[in-house]
Amino acid sequence: MEFFSYLHHLVCSSCQMKYPIDDVIETCRCGAPLLAEYNYDSLNQRLTKKSLQDRPQTLWRYHEMLPVLDPENVVSLDEHMTGLLPMNRFGTRHGLSNLVVKNEGTLPSGTFKARGSAVGISKAKELGVKGIAIPTNGNAGAAWALYAARAGMPAIVVMPELAPRVPMTECQVSGADVFLIDGTIRDAGTAVSQMVKKNQFYNVSTFNEPYRLEGKKTMGLEIAEQFQWSLPDVIVYPTGGGAGIIGIYKAFRELRELGWIEGPLPRLVVVQSVGCSPLVRAFHNKERTTVEWDNPETVAFGMRVPKPLGDFMILDYLYETNGTALTVTDAEILKAQNQVVRLEGLHVCPEGAAALAGIAKLREQDWVHADERVLVINTGSGLKYIDEAVAEGKLTHLTKDVI
Ligand SMILES: *Cc1c(COP(=O)(O)O)cnc(C)c1O
Ligand SMILES: [Zn+2]
Repeated sequence: MEFFSYLHHLVCSSCQMKYPIDDVIETCRCGAPLLAEYNYDSLNQRLTKKSLQDRPQTLWRYHEMLPVLDPENVVSLDEHMTGLLPMNRFGTRHGLSNLVVKNEGTLPSGTFKARGSAVGISKAKELGVKGIAIPTNGNAGAAWALYAARAGMPAIVVMPELAPRVPMTECQVSGADVFLIDGTIRDAGTAVSQMVKKNQFYNVSTFNEPYRLEGKKTMGLEIAEQFQWSLPDVIVYPTGGGAGIIGIYKAFRELRELGWIEGPLPRLVVVQSVGCSPLVRAFHNKERTTVEWDNPETVAFGMRVPKPLGDFMILDYLYETNGTALTVTDAEILKAQNQVVRLEGLHVCPEGAAALAGIAKLREQDWVHADERVLVINTGSGLKYIDEAVAEGKLTHLTKDVI
């Protein structure tokens, strides 16, 4: 018998307690995030590398390794596989001959958050939830509001007052109920947990429900397939809550379980902003969890997460893969953002620019060699931030005497 999905059970990321998959479920009784586990033996008999080749180029090509059981429940806006773009000029400028960007900016809503919300909303629909509620720094809310609209499901979004205007408006025009809070994404999270007690909406904040991570996992599955199952040496990720890097690692772990990849995993690199870098601080103190960051402050709002809930996983993966963590300043971010679009024609978001500035620094320190294969994730389109960009190009008002 063939199944659309081989989802089997949920397991606690901390105490290993197992849970069944048929109910709406949030975290483990111990409070830690739950992870989706699949029946890898059956999956291996059903799915081959070759069988993937003729499938549609969207993240649903990996449906056996995703949690949606019935294809009827898939809510989609064309989550196509995102491209790998060589960064030859920017790479050469910074002493790297093999630098590639995976450009997530072309996904629906303009960021990789579409992956998590496509899978998360589909699963929420399958579980019969009546509405979703989400705390966000902006982009996750925009993506979830969009897919909720696609599913015909009501959505509540809570975000900091200081969140960027564009994703805020995206939420509003998609029909979500938007609430602004004087505080950080953590305070927004507290507000959401209060609100869902009253209205019974599904609280889909990062790691409170297990399925958005499965969507983000497809980034790692795509990377492996696009690199012909021979992974790059280094993967650089601009990290906020860390669902992206945890998802990528989970993909590799599952592919290893299937025997599809072997050898050491890529060295994972976390880049954060000087003004909010709890993971970098913990990494350098050789700790296994983070301490909440006071007064987080950075232009790269997606990385403005004072205490990532999955911090212990991220730190583990950094130690395990011989990875590292480093900070960049806002000035370095804006400079890199400018440089990339001028040298490469790619509008990267501030977070993507942070990752690129970070790898340039690591090359300077010789942490990465000139010819290593380096993959940087550009998590979103720079067009969403174009109003805040430093416009350096020449702008002349044409008058008759200039012509
Ligand atoms: C959310 C976000 C991030 C941070 O991603 P995490 O997986 O939560 O660490 C980075 N960049 C952009 C553009 C984002 O929206
Ligand atoms: Zn537990």
